[in-house]
Amino acid sequence: MTADYRRLRIALLGAGAVGSQVASLLLEHGDELADRAGAALDLVGIAVRDLDAPRDAELPRELLTTDADALVVGADIVIELMGGIEPARTHLLQAINAGADVVTANKALLATHGPELFEAADQVGAEIYYEAAAAGAIPIIRPLRDSLAGDRVRRILGIVNGTTNYILDRMDAEGAEFDDVLAEAQALGYAEADPTADIEGFDAAQKAAILASLAFHTAVPLEAVHREGITGIDAAMIESARHAGYVIKLLAVCERLIDPETQAESISVRVYPALVSRSHPLATVHGAYNAVFVEAEAAGDLMFYGAGAGGVQTASAVLGDVVSAARRHIAGGVGVGESTLADLPMAPVGHVVTRYQITLEVDDRPGVLATVAGILSDGRVSIATVEQTTGGSQDAGDAVARLVIGTHRALEQDLSETVERLGASGVVERVVSVLRVEGD
Ligand code: NAP
Repeated sequence: MTADYRRLRIALLGAGAVGSQVASLLLEHGDELADRAGAALDLVGIAVRDLDAPRDAELPRELLTTDADALVVGADIVIELMGGIEPARTHLLQAINAGADVVTANKALLATHGPELFEAADQVGAEIYYEAAAAGAIPIIRPLRDSLAGDRVRRILGIVNGTTNYILDRMDAEGAEFDDVLAEAQALGYAEADPTADIEGFDAAQKAAILASLAFHTAVPLEAVHREGITGIDAAMIESARHAGYVIKLLAVCERLIDPETQAESISVRVYPALVSRSHPLATVHGAYNAVFVEAEAAGDLMFYGAGAGGVQTASAVLGDVVSAARRHIAGGVGVGESTLADLPMAPVGHVVTRYQITLEVDDRPGVLATVAGILSDGRVSIATVEQTTGGSQDAGDAVARLVIGTHRALEQDLSETVERLGASGVVERVVSVLRVEGD
């Protein structure tokens, strides 16, 4: 029963994987959504580049337009699902300045131009809704912004990129090599033809910047996110991790650091492949699924799990935002702005304290272990476990052993300087890998 509702004009920019599903659900469930929103949601147009491009959902041809500028004018709510920086940024600013509320799933735009957009929304009392931008269908923006507004987040560990989780999970399950699984993921459509944004951690870094900004009430610039991808992970590293009771996951880590002497707070935001104990809830996240594990001072540990991507799944989060935007539009009042008043400084990755697993190939002769232990101890890196996993002769007189060293918690700066000294020590043939352990 929508006849008495106030009618809101909804403009949709983009009808790709997500946009076509949003349009389809909005048209199909219009009455139900109107009852929930308290307003009739009239989809007045859908901006695309090519009117004749094939669509994932059947959409009324008369709604399609290539004139996004004209569509934005007069809209009450603008949904931006074009992706990329321009013209998405210009359209969103245009919509905000015209008094519209905006919904976007565009992590790249928010991670690079978030402060500009939030500032523009603040100026006019509008609100930017972006539940789909950090982990697809998983509700994580509202929990961080609203549900945990009375708590203090200590740390977030996120598996926020489905492609890399799929690849690492397959490598773990099958002992397969990275290149083979990547090729298979591309064939199945889990990875793009150009997988750089996923496998080099760029996508996860954008999401980490968004999550950290919310969690720590601080604008986190994308450039401040330390980023490493998963291209260096091979089957032997996965096997060695398994042997030690770990699984390798590409993690987005957002952490509040406290200086032990001054108690001064800073934040570290980083993306890298890390060892996660097989008993940690994140180790159970398989395939292309995502999860965000939040450690809060009062609430304790919380985990949010689900589909981090997919057209219809992501459309669910977008439509939730549309309903929220409609309710606010009807109720009036100033929208919720970004809370950045804590304005904590960003700590370089060298200030992080965590445990490590160092794998070395060393000369297999007496005294080498003592030399390695001495270098670690001089570098303030304390050994927790040592295992000689393989050994033997490469050829006569050139014996090599593989050492897997687990450390106690150490400062990243000390650790990296120590690993450099190990590499130059004359007894280490090769530093095979250095992986951080997260989730302790
Ligand atoms: P997509 O499939 O590439 O679709 C983009 C749509 O925008 C297409 O319909 C395209 O038109 C239209 N478009 C692009 N540039 C345009 C322009 N200059 N003028 C008019 N229309 C333009 O993208 P998507 O996968 O749906 O992603 C949309 C957004 O959601 C992105 O910000 C993405 O990061 C985010 N997101 C996606 C997922 C996912 O699973 N796909 C998950 C979470 C978040 P044509 O169709 O005519 O080319």
